[in-house]
Amino acid sequence: MFVDSVKIKIKAGDGGDGAVAFHREKYVASGGPDGGDGGKGGDVVFQVDDNLSTLIDFRYKTKYNAERGENGRGNNCTGRNGQDLVIRVPRGTVVRDLKSGKIMADLSSDEPQIIAHGGKGGKGNARFATPTRQIPRFAKPGFPGEGFEISLELKLLADVGLVGFPNVGKSTLISVVSAAKPKIANYHFTTLVPVLGVVKMGEGNSFVMADIPGLIEGASEGVGLGHAFLRHVERCRLIVNVVDVSGSEGRDPAEDFKLINSELTKFSAELGERPQIVAANKCDMATPEQIAAFRSFVEEDLGLPFFEISAATTQGTQELVAEIWNQLQTLPPILQYEPDYIPEIAEEPDQSFDIKVENEIYYIDAPWLEKVLAGVNMDDYESLQYFQRVLRNTGIIDRLEEMGIQEGDTVDLFGWQFDFVY
Ligand code: GDP
Ligand code: MG
Repeated sequence: MFVDSVKIKIKAGDGGDGAVAFHREKYVASGGPDGGDGGKGGDVVFQVDDNLSTLIDFRYKTKYNAERGENGRGNNCTGRNGQDLVIRVPRGTVVRDLKSGKIMADLSSDEPQIIAHGGKGGKGNARFATPTRQIPRFAKPGFPGEGFEISLELKLLADVGLVGFPNVGKSTLISVVSAAKPKIANYHFTTLVPVLGVVKMGEGNSFVMADIPGLIEGASEGVGLGHAFLRHVERCRLIVNVVDVSGSEGRDPAEDFKLINSELTKFSAELGERPQIVAANKCDMATPEQIAAFRSFVEEDLGLPFFEISAATTQGTQELVAEIWNQLQTLPPILQYEPDYIPEIAEEPDQSFDIKVENEIYYIDAPWLEKVLAGVNMDDYESLQYFQRVLRNTGIIDRLEEMGIQEGDTVDLFGWQFDFVY
């Protein structure tokens, strides 16, 4: 079964809790606080695996949780970080947040992508000791890890997509120009799986061709099987519209061409505008009049490149491949989807805050900010930039400046200490 769209739940690990502990040693009456910090929760990471070609595994397992961070312990022991959970997906998988519908990642490259960040560990009581508070009897709980309901959608990465009615010869064509060996049979819907084939051009050059299962009229409205497959044409740089010019099934080639194109346009206007080449297949069975009539329709009425071929005998297929290669040189690269998901941060109505200075450390007290901080990944530049903006927009930075903060002074937020920089 070909599964190319699923919904799953992912949850990154929560941070471990900070510990409350005091140093104990023989003959030492009362030791200082030595509760360690909790470990960070594991991230949920997505990674391309080229051994996978469908999302079928996600049909059977729909919940994915990364490990929690370990709690801190006495003797200043930091809890172990939770392990990341790596989820493997086929190349071209697009991850969306279901709630907002926004794109979180496009798994097209080999770069692993963190989709849900593990929560930071809570600070142990050793962190809260100050000259005036020598015996802190509290520690901080770990921050929760992010959790999302997401959809995974496979949008194949191919330079060229073959589209056309069932039985026009798409699978035969890809099998003669590449090493791909899809099922070929003289009945409709033999191809239920899009098949990718690498077409070698010599001198190390090649391009990827996709055999997209037959589109039928109404495909864009979900009639028949074609609809589900249209998304695989979306990234193609070029479309080869394969038409049975012999009309061997009592069809009219020009009508077929128009119907396929109206389906593409209905699916997405942009797809309807994609550059096309028309491959008039089954020329071995067609009369010269049939070929000439269709050629004049394509070349004169539509102004599109026309190739007469016979996939079965390979006649004309090399010329077609050469033209595809030529056109690809002038076309933009394969479409990549830019993430547009914006982390949702609790928008608190009460954004008041209090700042105290003690021993040149600026302690910010703002309960709402703790939630914001929980969503910020300190290792991620953009995430930090966002946090900076929150501090600026809510007036915290202005207040710090009024209080005379200098570059390099320490700012404390719930036990997290930062150097102040402009
Ligand atoms: P698809 O549904 O578009 O993938 O079509 P297939 O490649 O499965 O071909 C459907 C039928 O048409 C098969 O029986 C093929 O052998 C036949 N066929 C494909 N190309 C040609 C051709 O160029 N000439 C002739 N005579 N038959 C062809
Ligand atoms: Mg086929």
